[in-house]
Amino acid sequence: MWEDVFSNDWVAASQRFNHYAEKLSEAGHEVILKRLPLDIKGPVEEQLGIDTCIIGDPKGKKLLLSTSGIHGVEGYPGSAIQLHIMRDILENKPPEGVTVGFVHSLNPWGMAWLRRVNENNADLNRNFLPPDENYEGEPEGYSIVNPLINPKLPPEEKEKWFFLRALSHVLKHGWTKTKQSIAEGQYTRPEAMQYGGSELQQGPQKFLEWLQPLLESATQVVAIDLHTGLGKFGQDTLLVNPGMGEKKITAMRNRYGKRICPLDASAGVAYRTRGDLHQGLMGRWSDMDWTCITQEFGTYKPFKVLNSLRRENSWSQYGDVDDMYGHWSRRNLLRVFNPKNDDWRGMLLKRGRILFEQAVAQLQDGD
Ligand SMILES: [Zn+2]
Repeated sequence: MWEDVFSNDWVAASQRFNHYAEKLSEAGHEVILKRLPLDIKGPVEEQLGIDTCIIGDPKGKKLLLSTSGIHGVEGYPGSAIQLHIMRDILENKPPEGVTVGFVHSLNPWGMAWLRRVNENNADLNRNFLPPDENYEGEPEGYSIVNPLINPKLPPEEKEKWFFLRALSHVLKHGWTKTKQSIAEGQYTRPEAMQYGGSELQQGPQKFLEWLQPLLESATQVVAIDLHTGLGKFGQDTLLVNPGMGEKKITAMRNRYGKRICPLDASAGVAYRTRGDLHQGLMGRWSDMDWTCITQEFGTYKPFKVLNSLRRENSWSQYGDVDDMYGHWSRRNLLRVFNPKNDDWRGMLLKRGRILFEQAVAQLQDGD
């Protein structure tokens, strides 16, 4: 049952996205399908781009924005959720009074090459700094954690010391501080993990240009950004920016339940970030009524996820350039962020669709 929405490469996922968009159009619905071309290629020389699809009135007042794959390889489960919802809309009908904007794989290079970052090693969810903020600085504690997470040599498949060293680091510096210094985003070390880039990258730039006209007529937006790798296996957490205000977050708890978790290192699974997508949107269109939700699906334990990211990055920086795509560290990264497990995939599709329906209901109710 999952095979027809879980793709094995970016080309197949993109073809399926386009297929469902065309089917929706053939069924008589208002659909605008557009690829935002990028000047980069995938492993089979395919020209990459960001596929977008607007369903409903492009000048509508209520917008549901669903984005996936800002973290490259996380685009495989993100794509599956979006295809599952598009298929559902096709079998039933588009939501009334709501414009739906699907953005399929915001980081197609990372998805195609099985990385979490883009072609410049930039984490695009740290790349949306507000226009008045410089791409500079790193979190307190990053220089201390740097030798642990950014070894300057290719990884060994059988190495065992990482878990012990990571544990000893956490015992010495505390879990909250360690998590915060790794995850916040850094703008000083282009070859290291959680690098946010030196400027706004081409994909984010084109995405913002695509979004601009939709936001001219919209008065309310619910934005859902799909992620994996944080939290308990198969369970989702809805991360929200504390900047939305206590009143909004309380209202969100009432509607979406206890999965709502503010982005703050001391609470739950989360941490504070710089330059994430939703901060970028709220900072650029500050008068808009935003409800921004990062839907995170848990996969494996934090050290395992971190180690897989660490090994894949050190391979990408110091490994054999002729053996990038097929290397075990990339296959491993794919499985850590997109488990091949029927239960996990079932939970992912179910919860992805429920959140989408709750977001439609919020826009229809207008609160
Ligand atoms: Zn992510």
